Amino acid sequence: MLQAHTGYDLAIIGSGGGAFAAAIAARSKGRSVVMVERGTTGGTCVNVGCVPSKALLAAAEARHGARAASRFPGLEGTEPAVDFPALIGGKDTLVEQLRAEKYTDLAAEYGWQIVHGTATFTANDDGPALEVALNDGGTATIEAAHYVIATGSAPWAPPIDGLVEAGYLTSTSAMELDELPEHLLVLGGGYVGLEQAQLFARLGSRVTIAVRSRLASQEEPEISAGIEAVFREEGITVHTRTQASAVHRDGDGILTTLTGPDGEQQIRASHLLIATGRRPVTDGLGLERVGVKTGERGEVVVDEHLRTGNPRIWAAGDVTGHPDFVYVAAAHGTLVADNALDGAERTLDYTALPKVTFTSPAIASVGMTDAQLAEAGIACQCRTLPLEYVPRALANRDTRGLVKLIAERGTGKLLGAHVLADGAGDIITAATYAITAGLTVDQLAHTWHPYLTMAEALKLAAQTFTSDVAKLSCCAG
Ligand SMILES: Cc1cc2nc3c(=O)[nH]c(=O)nc-3n(C[C@H](O)[C@H](O)[C@H](O)COP(=O)(O)OP(=O)(O)OC[C@H]3O[C@@H](n4cnc5c(N)ncnc54)[C@H](O)[C@@H]3O)c2cc1C
Repeated sequence: MLQAHTGYDLAIIGSGGGAFAAAIAARSKGRSVVMVERGTTGGTCVNVGCVPSKALLAAAEARHGARAASRFPGLEGTEPAVDFPALIGGKDTLVEQLRAEKYTDLAAEYGWQIVHGTATFTANDDGPALEVALNDGGTATIEAAHYVIATGSAPWAPPIDGLVEAGYLTSTSAMELDELPEHLLVLGGGYVGLEQAQLFARLGSRVTIAVRSRLASQEEPEISAGIEAVFREEGITVHTRTQASAVHRDGDGILTTLTGPDGEQQIRASHLLIATGRRPVTDGLGLERVGVKTGERGEVVVDEHLRTGNPRIWAAGDVTGHPDFVYVAAAHGTLVADNALDGAERTLDYTALPKVTFTSPAIASVGMTDAQLAEAGIACQCRTLPLEYVPRALANRDTRGLVKLIAERGTGKLLGAHVLADGAGDIITAATYAITAGLTVDQLAHTWHPYLTMAEALKLAAQTFTSDVAKLSCCAG
């Protein structure tokens, strides 16, 4: 049956973080909105991304923590047994609850319709329109003053001989397994690969990780070395500067050929997880019919206002190829609603965009790396503080990690902060404020930091620009 939906202010393709932020912003302005979603309402973050991964990581960390308790004199470490299906079931319950509370129920509360189907652009006399192949059969046509493409990204696998035939896990299917892998081989050392490797290792799988350059290659080399040491200590086998060239499945599992510094070797694993990145989802959207261009990695090309080549079509979230975090997608959604509906001409600045990898210790950074500053020709000074100098880490009996600060030479202005520590995500939030406010390391060193917090590591790292922290009294200002 053909249904026609016309006269909307905003039609949004997708129902993830970007789409919902755009819809809520538009409804808050009193504008009419329709959303088209072909899969599960809520998109990646709540269903297969942030929420399930952090829920499982928290469980894995609780188990690991129980064993690691033996680092405190007087405590015995005992590791609880793992009922993997029950863990997955618990994760699913949380996902369902948050999907309802943070997504489905909100659409009803703010008052917009979610059309369940696959959207494609067409062009008619009045400009762009959407044809929707409805999930329950039939089609619908949607016309609106403005459109938002918020179709997200999907796991991407490199061309490896035999990979498709052998079959592999992505982060999505790995978190839906019925049983714990006996031996998991992870290819890829970005945040998804690192989190999944440690998650399964801490639940009891044997884990091997192979990466093309180094673990967390976007981060400072000290951070990569630090997390590699943690992984090795926890029994994860790490192959750096290694590439997979062939994959073959037989009755005993998956055989992967790896080539690295020690030559070629074959690794047999029960499961193979490909975590080599994600690519924007634009296939089948009919973008060429409405003058919307895509770039080399399939991303929708947008200007600084997130407007595409068609003045009535905007894009938000992972599909733009901008940093793929849900808080970026959400900021995009609100910005696009302001720009499309109010002509606000707003832009975003990623100078102080924080990033967190939820391993433990966690990795977090904000601002530029040493190498990026050198490439930009900006003279800078760096200081690295190992966590042995941080009282909270000593009290925790866990000094794995470091804080590296980078300041502009001459002015001392903080340009980058890079942390490997438990609670790195919270520490980096403070550094984000400091960079946003344009603080110097001297100002940071003279800002109040409560004693016996991990965030105090920032102040101590700032103090290393002028003093020797080894000679400071415990909470000296
Ligand atoms: C394992 C994992 C862990 C992550 N952890 C974090 C984290 O801790 N913190 C963080 O900030 N980010 C995290 N992310 C990233 C975050 O999930 C994404 O950046 C964010 O969800 C992207 O939102 P989006 O709105 O751009 O797209 P999505 O949420 O992907 O939504 C896009 C939607 O569009 C729909 N769609 C696509 N094409 C069509 C079409 N033609 N018609 C109709 N519907 C269509 C899809 O079905 C999908 O539901 C994680 C990602 C993964 C994979």
